[in-house]
Amino acid sequence: MPLECTDWSYINKVQPFHVNISANAKLLLDFHCHLMSSEVVGYLAGNWDFSTQTLTVKNAYPFRSRLHDAELTSLIEEEIRNTFTAKNMVLVGWYHSHPETIATPTLRDIEAQLDYEVQIKGPTVESYIPCVGIICSPYDKDKSTLDSTITCYWVLPSFENEIHDYGRPMNMHFTTKPEKSLTLDIVMALKKCVDFNKYDPDIINFKDKYKNNVTYLEKLKISLMDKFPKDDTIHRFLWNFLSEIVCIGSSGDTAKNNLQNLIAVISSRQLLLSTSSFSTSNPLIEHLESYLQSCNANKLTLEDVPTTSDCSNITSASIASSLFNDLDFSKAMSLIGLSPSRYQTDPLK
Ligand SMILES: [Zn+2]
Repeated sequence: MPLECTDWSYINKVQPFHVNISANAKLLLDFHCHLMSSEVVGYLAGNWDFSTQTLTVKNAYPFRSRLHDAELTSLIEEEIRNTFTAKNMVLVGWYHSHPETIATPTLRDIEAQLDYEVQIKGPTVESYIPCVGIICSPYDKDKSTLDSTITCYWVLPSFENEIHDYGRPMNMHFTTKPEKSLTLDIVMALKKCVDFNKYDPDIINFKDKYKNNVTYLEKLKISLMDKFPKDDTIHRFLWNFLSEIVCIGSSGDTAKNNLQNLIAVISSRQLLLSTSSFSTSNPLIEHLESYLQSCNANKLTLEDVPTTSDCSNITSASIASSLFNDLDFSKAMSLIGLSPSRYQTDPLK
């Protein structure tokens, strides 16, 4: 049962901290949520600025947990630690989709959120880090517009004299600045979302009609547009690339050519890699960078892009190890409510 989020003004309080969500993070999570008719989950990384009381969500990390390779898992764990340390980022929240229902939290979502708040808050008041939940509803057919609804919420713990004993979901207003750049890791994360889910029975067929005469592909485009970087050329190549990987034949060119065009234009803007959120001291990322730089127009294929250095889709075990350390991770994961048959998570070896 979904519960409406309460506005702070309703309880005569001011929102306790500001929230910024990067357009890149919104782009990635909105794309991820559009792909499946079933619920998807991911994590949010960013920073907490104590002096301005501002939580900034910089990156989204789509959840991927079907890896059964312990060696690869530990490699990815190490990469995540390096990435977060190098960029001075921390876990600041999580997101999930309500594919066809409104973007308001259920009781389970409230319990899960409260559990994360407790786990992430840190040992002392000085080290406190807030944690937010985001719900993205891509296909709520009662909505009159075609963009997704993205709700950011936070749970106010219940007090003894309150009617509710589960905490109250509070609406967190957030700001988003337009993105000037697109980094390679975002491009690869978008592609990996499709790669990982493309054989699932519940993946959306983007050729199908969504509503009236609008296809799922047209609907996707409308929802993503305001999250794209404000650069017309990147905008065009990015959409060509995305439309082709979700709907073959839709862009008029191959996925390979679209990716090459996109990388070329990012490179020409001198944004390639230098602004990547990954540390250049990371050997696996260096490998990916040198690999992509060495690719020429004739030999790069989508399949050639290495998969072992993927940091953007991460395993539950990776997250557990790198972010929650010794905390009670299994409890938090069960609260997300992942179906074991769908998300087969391996315990850390
Ligand atoms: Zn939910």
